[in-house]
Amino acid sequence: MSASLRVRVHEIYDCIQGESTLSGMPCTLIRLAGCPLECSYCDTPEAIPFDNGAWMTIEEICGEVTRKHRPLTLVSGGEPLAQKNCPSLLNQLAQQKALLQLETSGTFDINKLHPRVRRILDIKTPDSDEAERNLWRNIPRLKSGDEVKFVLCSKSDYQWALSILEQHCRDLADDIPVLFSPVESRLAAKELAEWMLRDNPSARLQLQMHKHIWGMEATGV
Ligand code: SF4
Repeated sequence: MSASLRVRVHEIYDCIQGESTLSGMPCTLIRLAGCPLECSYCDTPEAIPFDNGAWMTIEEICGEVTRKHRPLTLVSGGEPLAQKNCPSLLNQLAQQKALLQLETSGTFDINKLHPRVRRILDIKTPDSDEAERNLWRNIPRLKSGDEVKFVLCSKSDYQWALSILEQHCRDLADDIPVLFSPVESRLAAKELAEWMLRDNPSARLQLQMHKHIWGMEATGV
């Protein structure tokens, strides 16, 4: 039944997962179309309109993922959870053997997703211009296999992230990593590394591996 439901797909392609603790894994990336946010640093603006890309049935998408036979499947966007059929897509993908990650802005409820879905919760910082949309109730729902990500543009974003760790993430289980990822056109990784060495936050520095392999301007990687 749910296999015949449709979602709007911006693109599906093979890549090396460039982010998260699974970075480096060969991956099939399903980029869903549409996002209601307008982050200042968005690197996939072409995926934002809800009418971009094409409709595909969940069955068609799962067939393509099966053919590609990668060890990791990543559902990203846009904001995937902005599409009402995304949870059904995740349910079907969860029946396959590959590891399954979801990248979400954290502005939609992540409850009630299939337990095999590894959720990467992207906390929006003040310099993203979308911080007021964060749904803080998502954080206590995180489980083993999930991750928290802060995309940082500046020193003030970094300091804000430290305060959020203190306010909202103190009770996170040890096996839920927190990642600090600089927008490299706005914040040098070296500078962020030095702040982290000084302050010792319970977080890891994350660089976007795919951009270091294929270049900062490359798309579809
Ligand atoms: S949530 Fe993601 S896709 Fe949407 S505007 Fe922000 S960075 Fe772009």
